[in-house]
Amino acid sequence: MSMGSLLHLLFPPTCLICEASGLGLCTSCEEKIVRVTVVRDIEQIKFWAGAYYGDELAQLILLAKEKNNSLARNYLSQLLLESFMRAIANLSDPSNAALIPIPSSHAANRRRGYRHSYLLARALASRIAKESSRDVEVIEALRVNRKIADQSNLNRVERMQNLSGAYSVRSRHIPHLAHSAPESIFLIDDLVTSGSSIREGLRALGQLGISPSGVLAAGVSPRVFS
Ligand SMILES: [Zn+2]
Repeated sequence: MSMGSLLHLLFPPTCLICEASGLGLCTSCEEKIVRVTVVRDIEQIKFWAGAYYGDELAQLILLAKEKNNSLARNYLSQLLLESFMRAIANLSDPSNAALIPIPSSHAANRRRGYRHSYLLARALASRIAKESSRDVEVIEALRVNRKIADQSNLNRVERMQNLSGAYSVRSRHIPHLAHSAPESIFLIDDLVTSGSSIREGLRALGQLGISPSGVLAAGVSPRVFS
């Protein structure tokens, strides 16, 4: 008996969200995650999201973000892949893709011991590479340049103020980005609620004349699309 099957015997895997047995998500939890079928603009840039934000998706984002749970991250990267496939179906099909993650604060990265948004973008990159013959790279072009507050308890206006001017483009990535075809660049986030992080990311890139082809998120608050 392998170590893996022995472990499964001793500790049977359960659904990431409920107590049902199985690895990853059980069918009943999976069915509660409702896919997004519409597309919106954020600052005239097309925005695709995988699923609507609800209790189940909240749980998965928390597990990936705060617990470094790779099964949860895998699921989020699947939602991002679905957004990506819809995005390229509507755009001139890029032969490569450059994924720019929305950055977390230094404090959050330090506390967690890993960069959640980077790991999520990497997971998406390997899915895209597997799914197609595209060259995919993750470029951590954006950084948080000052102290920002945790956004979760802020309203829309407070979020905008909190993030206004907070991102900048790392200078070492500027030449590379300037030479990348705009249609290949995608801004990546786990969840879009007010859109303030995305707007700030677009602003920072826009200052250098860089306009991504699209924005991709694993989840979106239903009110963004209402
Ligand atoms: Zn479940």
